[in-house]
Amino acid sequence: MSRVLRPEVIRWFHAAPFATPVIGVAGGKGGVGKTAVAVNLASSFAAAGHRTALVDCDVEAPDALVFLGLPPGEGVQARVVQPEFFLEKCTDCQACIQACRRHCLLRPAERTILLMGECSGCEACFLVCPAEAIHRGHRGMGTLRTTTAGRLTVFSAALEPGAEESALLIHALMQRAAAAAEQFDVIVVDTPSGLRHTVIEALKGSAHVLVVTEPTPPGIHDLDRLLSLLDMFAVRRSIFINRADLPGSMQDLREVADRHATPVETGLRMDDQLMESSRRGVAAVQLFPQSLVARTFTGLARNLAGEYLP
Ligand code: SF4
Ligand code: SF4
Repeated sequence: MSRVLRPEVIRWFHAAPFATPVIGVAGGKGGVGKTAVAVNLASSFAAAGHRTALVDCDVEAPDALVFLGLPPGEGVQARVVQPEFFLEKCTDCQACIQACRRHCLLRPAERTILLMGECSGCEACFLVCPAEAIHRGHRGMGTLRTTTAGRLTVFSAALEPGAEESALLIHALMQRAAAAAEQFDVIVVDTPSGLRHTVIEALKGSAHVLVVTEPTPPGIHDLDRLLSLLDMFAVRRSIFINRADLPGSMQDLREVADRHATPVETGLRMDDQLMESSRRGVAAVQLFPQSLVARTFTGLARNLAGEYLP
């Protein structure tokens, strides 16, 4: 049974900074076709005349622009606060070390504080320092980009090489999309793969989550875990089965869906045209507008628009 979260946590999750309906696209692990689904769903919304934003939150492997054959827009550096120490003012009280929940701060010698490890920029150490010995510095964590083609705008970000704090970069990316939300009728969010805290960061404020899976044992296992997560946050969701003809068990998949009271929206078998469109960097709904894959995504976008768009 899923854990029940406190109501204020659920409220925090649903407190959308967006002025526009957000559809999240999630997949338990890499390789289930999550980005292909997100790209084609966003392209279908745009083709239907909706001003559409696609936010590529897979910041460790951003490839929505590659799927769409679009050039990266001009980059803006995203920065995070981090402490700078003025040790001549330090009284050696060590309050900053005790306050840092990430254990980033070390005291290798008397009145010497060093920043080691991944600082989240929480500012707790700034607040407890009684001697004003800690000042606000900054470090770059990645690059934010915006690319527009017709009615589709892609917000993307790439983590700085070696940086680990992708949740902070995702937060910055979502803030950027939220600031422009009034320009769009719908926002599609492609989440990071897996079940890390970065998925929650990317899905915060989603009106509906489309969970992409496949009927293989690993796919069903990840589906179960992802739906358990969505249960905890009481998120509306449906399942998109990709590559429905892969070896596995549709019955097991449907049992998991039923256990989590989640409808199976639609699905696709292995589709050569979807693969060909990914290879050529054009959304399948544009490259093969009469194909089954195009009709599937067009129908999906129409259903979601009917439910969530004004
Ligand atoms: S800003 Fe937060 S995470 Fe960074 S060193 Fe200070 S207390 Fe630690
Ligand atoms: S809290 Fe301030 S004064 Fe105390 S050890 Fe840290 S830097 Fe020095």
